[in-house]
Amino acid sequence: MRYISTRGQAPSLSFEDVLLTGLASDGGLYVPESLPQFSHQEIASWSALNYADLAHKILLPFVEEDISSSELKTMVDETYASFNHKAVAPLIQLDHNEWVLELFHGPTLAFKDFALQLLGRLMDHVLIKRDKHLVIMGATSGDTGSAAIEGCRHSERVQMFILHPYERVSEVQRRQMTTLIGDNIHNIAVRGNFDDCQQMVKQSFSDQSFLNGGQLGAVNSINWARIMAQIVYYFYAAVALGGPHREVSFSVPTGNFGDIYAGYLAKKMGLPIKQLVVATNENDILHRCISANQYSKNSLVQTLSPSMDIMVSSNFERLLFDLYDRDGSALSELVVGLNSGAVNSLEPKRWQQACQLFSSHRVDDKKTCDVISQVALQHNYLLDPHTAIGVEAGRVCNRHLQVPMITMATAHAVKFPDAVIEAGQTAPELPNHLTDLFERPERCQVLDNDLVKVQNYMISQL
Ligand SMILES: *Cc1c(COP(=O)(O)O)cnc(C)c1O
Repeated sequence: MRYISTRGQAPSLSFEDVLLTGLASDGGLYVPESLPQFSHQEIASWSALNYADLAHKILLPFVEEDISSSELKTMVDETYASFNHKAVAPLIQLDHNEWVLELFHGPTLAFKDFALQLLGRLMDHVLIKRDKHLVIMGATSGDTGSAAIEGCRHSERVQMFILHPYERVSEVQRRQMTTLIGDNIHNIAVRGNFDDCQQMVKQSFSDQSFLNGGQLGAVNSINWARIMAQIVYYFYAAVALGGPHREVSFSVPTGNFGDIYAGYLAKKMGLPIKQLVVATNENDILHRCISANQYSKNSLVQTLSPSMDIMVSSNFERLLFDLYDRDGSALSELVVGLNSGAVNSLEPKRWQQACQLFSSHRVDDKKTCDVISQVALQHNYLLDPHTAIGVEAGRVCNRHLQVPMITMATAHAVKFPDAVIEAGQTAPELPNHLTDLFERPERCQVLDNDLVKVQNYMISQL
């Protein structure tokens, strides 16, 4: 399997190279040249597989030219054995045809663990094989950081720098990053917002000269391997509810468009998915784009669902690439226009295609709290604020009531006690492996929103 850039100018790469590269050299994102296809018969034959075995089946075609079947098997087995639930991704029924897929049983309690715990193992494997070292730089709105650090903290080949917006992540989120102390782990709190952090990461990737020959690797969802790992749980949930013979729909709390893009790929690989719902908070550029063909940056709003507080969604470019018939130069022109503000909509026929593929809904903080308390009262189940947005969007957008609607439960409610309390509920207790989180020492460097200062700090630590 080869990987190509959405902007059409960068060379195609193998899986291993894509894994270690962030953005393509032309500024684009890597996508597979083609997708593996699974027949209904084959999908049906997976109904008895456990999560790790299913992941092995689905991921092998993406990596097999570089990584052997048995090496991959060992890595997925270890990854999902580190989760705190035997089912790895249990499905919970809330109501008739209303389900949530709990994706928060990994070590850092958010769905990012599904990809990042595997990514750490894949990277280490390739770096050891090539006898290389890698400097990883990533931006986080809260959950990517801890999952990435957890995934790489035992690596002797990786130095990791994680930027988060100063005082804009929850205390649990911050402590999950800053209390993982290791010589190769560097947390940086930037006096700015998430988009400022992401912008600095992007600029550093496009000009890596400050590293004097070193190479930057990515843990943000611009890294293809993350998207790939997330495809698996769409199959897992659908098969558990009778797929492929029975269709299912998914509602996905969305920020960077990574998770829901994986659902779109699952559908293209042969999984019968009826509806894919894009659920946003008040930072709603994706909802405005899908519902009204308006693509323009608004200013950032701080919400009760901080992991989705972003102005632009990097991975949307991967979908646009398909909508524009995989024409790299057309896409390049479009993306440059959208980013500069010169263009603020898609060509009508491309937009109509997007509307066929996705529904969308935006949920504000008040409604988020209402849903948390309604579901707690009526179903005795505590949603985190991101998942609550997904549940609400799933309800509003559902056009096929006879089809199960599955909301991706992207985080454990314990990570976001503010929203839970505002919804009139009691904040849950930290799970066993984190009970002393508030007593652990922290290590973190606060820096100005200034690229040179951040890069100088990085060099001083290498
Ligand atoms: C990252 C995150 C999201 C958004 O996921 P994307 O792949 O960026 O769309 C939603 N909920 C939680 C809890 C997250 O951590």
